Amino acid sequence: MRAATLTDNTGSKDGLDIALDARRRIAKSEAAQYDALTAYLGQVAEESLARAGGVNEWTRYGGSGTPSVSEYAACEVGPALGLSASGGRDLIADALDLTYRLPQLFACLHEGSVDAWRIRKVARKTRRFTIAQAADADRRLAAANVDGTPLIARVGMARVNQILDQIRITEDPDDPEHRRNENRNRRSVSIWPDDGVARIAGTLSLDDGKRLDQRLDQIVESLRFLGDNRAYDILRSVALGMLDEPDSLDDLYHQVAVARCGSGGGADAGADDSYADQPGDGGSPERARRARRSGSRQTVLYVHFDRCWGTWSIEDVGAITRSEAAEILGHSHVTVKPVIDLETTISATGYVAPPRLKEQLGLMNASICTFPHCTRPARVADYDHILNHADGGPTDSRNGHRLCRYHHRAKTFTTWQVSNPGPGIWLWQSPAGRTYLVTGGTTTRLPGRVTNTVQDKRKQSVA
Ligand SMILES: [Zn+2]
Repeated sequence: MRAATLTDNTGSKDGLDIALDARRRIAKSEAAQYDALTAYLGQVAEESLARAGGVNEWTRYGGSGTPSVSEYAACEVGPALGLSASGGRDLIADALDLTYRLPQLFACLHEGSVDAWRIRKVARKTRRFTIAQAADADRRLAAANVDGTPLIARVGMARVNQILDQIRITEDPDDPEHRRNENRNRRSVSIWPDDGVARIAGTLSLDDGKRLDQRLDQIVESLRFLGDNRAYDILRSVALGMLDEPDSLDDLYHQVAVARCGSGGGADAGADDSYADQPGDGGSPERARRARRSGSRQTVLYVHFDRCWGTWSIEDVGAITRSEAAEILGHSHVTVKPVIDLETTISATGYVAPPRLKEQLGLMNASICTFPHCTRPARVADYDHILNHADGGPTDSRNGHRLCRYHHRAKTFTTWQVSNPGPGIWLWQSPAGRTYLVTGGTTTRLPGRVTNTVQDKRKQSVA
């Protein structure tokens, strides 16, 4: 056995010591980023970001006690730092909360004794806390031990969340009820493609959740009755998919009913009742099925061909393989829509863009809003005239693009400007003179800043 030797040679650092030092420097740099952002917000608060005489919406991004900022601050901050609008808003809110509500934790970040992601989670979780509750959380989580490490860096996030829950409930016993109401008002369901499967996440009312849960088990039971031996979890997933296919559910219940009758009726006859109340299943299931088919569920697929890579992809799904295409087509009635040539100019005489023009523009810029770094889907976005219709701007493919509501408002009420130097290319200039080139769903920040912005010209004319 090798003898242990204790040395006080702290000068020789190994790789892990160097890694830890680097991590502390990252934390300090993050702190410097939030300081710079807060200082910037303080400067722009003096001057209105919105058009002179126009709308200037003030909003509080952070928790109570933090200053209000222009609603459109996130438009300038997000793209400048390579973030979407919501990413910019989150960063602003966290920076303000750290500065005004969580100063002790912020000091820990300045010292490099805690990772930024940890205190940003605390900022988010305490955003609705009162000033007193936030101060309590700040004091408890920043409490240092003998070597100066704050509590937040010595426990897991589960323990941090527990402490925050204790603070909230102790100081506001009515809060759980409050929170439940808020949760109910914030229900949502999202489905997104991920590596060959669709992921789903969301919240339902307790009642709906319970019924859906039972319904899935009922379908799983039927599938198993008919001999499907796949794992329970897979069958639940199959069952959820079947809820959107009334035809296949009808077929399933019909087959179960037939199998049960065939297996001798008697005691099983009662079980059929559980299926008799399925919509359209009473009397003549076959006729109901036919009627439903002719009622035609339709699926519209936008298939894109990438000339550069020679691959096909489906909008909102991404690149697809041949067998995936066959699976999708095998499940649905298919409508083939005439190809919309993105390079053709579609024109209209009035102010309102016709559906075909809106559809064409919705397919451009990789089907997202044309604002720098925005990721919102173009299909549900507003149609915007690049040159205002009132100023002679035509309603056509070249003068139109799709903007999400937030960025449409920003373009309308602030001095953001956009031009369209060529098909599928948008050149944006921010009120502060930053310029961005948006094309094919990508944003490139152009170097330097334009000095003679609309805003500066206004300032000069006022002076
Ligand atoms: Zn947008």
